[in-house]
Amino acid sequence: MSLIPDDVIEQVREAADIVGIIGEHVELKRTGADYRAPCPFHGGTHRNFAVIPRKGMFYCFVCHAGGDVFTFFMKKLGMDYPTAVREVARRAGITIPERGPTGPDPREPLYSAVAAAADWFARQLRESPEAQVARDYLTTRHLDLDTVQPLGLGYAPRTKAFLDAMKGLGVRDEVLLDAGLLAKREDGTLAPRFRGRLLFPIHDVRARVVGFGGRILGEGEPKYLNSPDTPIFHKGKLLYNLHVAKHAMRKAERAILVEGYFDALRLSLAGIEEVVAPLGTGLTQEQAQLVQRHAPHVILLYDSDEPGLRATFRAGDELLREGLRVSVATLPAGEDPDTLGQKQGAAGIEEILKDAVDVLERKIQILDRRGFFGTLPGRRRALDRLLPTIRAAKDPITRELYISRVAEAAGVRKDVLEREAGMRDAGSAMRPIAPTHPASRISDPVLPASAEKALLLLMLEGEPWRGRVIDAVDSEELEFPPYRAVFESVADDAVLALDDTSARAYEQLKAEGLGHRDPNEMYELAVNWMEARRLERQLEQLDDQLPFETPERQASLIAEKRRVFDELRKRYPRYKIAKRRRGAPGT
Ligand SMILES: [Zn+2]
Repeated sequence: MSLIPDDVIEQVREAADIVGIIGEHVELKRTGADYRAPCPFHGGTHRNFAVIPRKGMFYCFVCHAGGDVFTFFMKKLGMDYPTAVREVARRAGITIPERGPTGPDPREPLYSAVAAAADWFARQLRESPEAQVARDYLTTRHLDLDTVQPLGLGYAPRTKAFLDAMKGLGVRDEVLLDAGLLAKREDGTLAPRFRGRLLFPIHDVRARVVGFGGRILGEGEPKYLNSPDTPIFHKGKLLYNLHVAKHAMRKAERAILVEGYFDALRLSLAGIEEVVAPLGTGLTQEQAQLVQRHAPHVILLYDSDEPGLRATFRAGDELLREGLRVSVATLPAGEDPDTLGQKQGAAGIEEILKDAVDVLERKIQILDRRGFFGTLPGRRRALDRLLPTIRAAKDPITRELYISRVAEAAGVRKDVLEREAGMRDAGSAMRPIAPTHPASRISDPVLPASAEKALLLLMLEGEPWRGRVIDAVDSEELEFPPYRAVFESVADDAVLALDDTSARAYEQLKAEGLGHRDPNEMYELAVNWMEARRLERQLEQLDDQLPFETPERQASLIAEKRRVFDELRKRYPRYKIAKRRRGAPGT
């Protein structure tokens, strides 16, 4: 039996008419959006068996048989998975290509073991006296058993009963270890990985259970424990509820991303089906790609507290990198999607979703509210926070819009921003971007009183001084690096591109101002000083050259040196020649 590619299985599932197929075996009656029938598995006479077409699944409320269209054939007719897929494909008129590696999937025992475990955990939640703690916990979260059963929630007892149960079913310990359901202790004994936890089954895109997320009940750490990575479970490559949400995501052309299992569950129960959650970690690139395959637009619905915001923006950048449109919905303080869903239902959540704003706009809102745009260093730091989002935007139109918006918000020229957004892009392909240090750790630069400073103070007065200084001095002539940076940025009208140190120098200069000083006199003195410094540099260069020249050439250089020195002494008698490193020629 050859392996069938995932995308083909997807195509088959999409095309399958689950109501028609199951309807061949039982007599389905429509009840609202779902269909009901007497259960074909336990042979009841009441209509306890439900087919839920919008989720592509069936479930019996008495014997708890459940699954998708493929599972139905497997359970009803005893087919294996590939045969069931082929049978559904045949009915849907889809040809499955006969290629790829042959032989059974070596991971098949793991899928079976996890499926058996999921069934057993679900039964514990329904029946075991010990699971009362879990049932009570669900009650505190306003969830009744009937509601969560079709979702496959389970309970893992504190005891080792799981080991015995699996042994009874003939599942070998090694398989349970490989499936991440057992852990080996240091002394070599085996213990169930999940103990005293409410379990959320985690499905792959084929709707097979591949692992669990377990919430502790009562005291204990960690609060949530996931299956470890196994050959069938990769935490960073799966999304909770995707197997159900993907159909709704296609239809709604959006995905709603929440942080936790309960959040996803609450939205799903409220009828908002296109909801997925990462598995207790930040959103990974692979998860963003999974979302991108099913919807063009994502609404992030995370907590509005500080950690929630950080997670929101990290996830936002990850999704932008996949070319998705990203919006952020903002919950009232103290609420999460679960609590809000409990209080206000689908209508309350839809209201919040309706008000979602673009992720970059949300960032700007928050920075603005915190006063970042009020000062120049603040605007610089705001830019540092907005640039990664601009850079993340893979979609060219989004990127263009982002550049315009940030240029407007931060008062910086578009071309400067484009340059900066592009610049670190090129570098980041080869090396990680160095973390920007919090501004508080950068001390204010000590600003030397000098001709350079005087020139900057004049420039900051605006025209005509700015233009006159630019005409008189080249930026390379400024020797103190922060001054040179300020000079260049004022000359280029690109003050927001300053680094933190230079931005602070700029702020200090701005604050100092000219005071009572006469700008004409300052300008005269400063420009003269700069010219003297120019001549002095010439002398230094001649000194550097001299030792390496022929005697004839040396003679001419010495003559040149004397000429420059005389000019310096004549034109700038106040220039402190005595301070010079190498002394005057001939002394
Ligand atoms: Zn049944």
